[in-house]
Amino acid sequence: MTGLPVRPEFEGRSPYGAPQVPAAHRLNTNENPYPLPDELLADLGAALGAAALELNRYPDRDALDLRADLATYLSRSGTAVTPDQVWAANGSNEILQQLSQVFGGAGRMALGFTPSYSMHPLITASTGGTFVDGHRRADFTIDPDAAVAQVRELRPDVVFVTSPNNPTGTAVALDTITALHDATEGVLVVDEAYTEFARPGTPSALTLLEGRPRLVVSRTMSKAFGMAGLRLGYLAADPAVVDALQLVRLPYHLSSLTQAAARTALAHTDALLATVDAVKHERDRIVAALPGLGLTSVPSDANFVLFGGFADAPAVWQGLLDRGVLVRDVGLPGWLRVTAGTPAETDAFLTALGEVVAAPG
Ligand code: PMP
Repeated sequence: MTGLPVRPEFEGRSPYGAPQVPAAHRLNTNENPYPLPDELLADLGAALGAAALELNRYPDRDALDLRADLATYLSRSGTAVTPDQVWAANGSNEILQQLSQVFGGAGRMALGFTPSYSMHPLITASTGGTFVDGHRRADFTIDPDAAVAQVRELRPDVVFVTSPNNPTGTAVALDTITALHDATEGVLVVDEAYTEFARPGTPSALTLLEGRPRLVVSRTMSKAFGMAGLRLGYLAADPAVVDALQLVRLPYHLSSLTQAAARTALAHTDALLATVDAVKHERDRIVAALPGLGLTSVPSDANFVLFGGFADAPAVWQGLLDRGVLVRDVGLPGWLRVTAGTPAETDAFLTALGEVVAAPG
């Protein structure tokens, strides 16, 4: 970008993105590897065909039917969510961007507890705001007292909490979330991209929405629903938050094809989420196998595992890739992250890892 008059805060920055390297087993972007059910594929063909007939018209700008379907899905959790509490966009990245545009921006500050999802700082910067690192304990959990003290001292406009956290898999206790909400005068965004993979006893922050108008729960269809290519993210919050987002959303941001495909997928929720238990099983298999290889991992409530104990994590990353297994080097010294998928992928990963750790260094 040398020579171009880009904004100074972008100088020296790299675009977000995992390396797109060809590999037999791609375990680096936390996707769901299972193919979509045949019945869904058939219905998608019909729904997209019908939507195509209307492509000369703009889509429903407010995505009313889709938001109603998303509210129905969220309400299955036992917490009633109404369509006016829901907003949808092109991936939860766009949800996070719209939130930053309204509640963050120039002269404003966002606090997040790193290591966490690296788009939180990037979106904060791209919308003109300043991102500040929150404290985590060495085991990657959030210390509620330290976090609350930091919020009181810094008075951020936006607080990001990822639960379960990426890249560590760490779920955040609900009383930590309520304490952060009570401490901040800003908006608290709980990024729950991986919540469907949480172990029992890790409830969603949806249960906290009632009476907390500055709490936002962000979700996605990219992970448990196995629809990363669809680009559909959404949030649940007070209807006033949804109203505020109308100020920054681009008109007709969500194409009629996306809306039709997302509604069709939601009609097949049970079939799509049927793979979640299998993925959780593979995650737990990876965790259980690591000590046998002399390695450790962080307890995970997501569809991936942060594993470590390496003197040279980049060398292990390369060794795995040489054996056809692509994992993620998230830049944490000594650690790598692997996505849990099919039993065959777990087998390939554990076999390759066993060879790499046994190889003379
Ligand atoms: N939040 C977290 C924590 C993520 O890990 C990701 C994707 N890696 C996203 C949000 C964005 O997902 P999408 O835009 O596909 O919904």
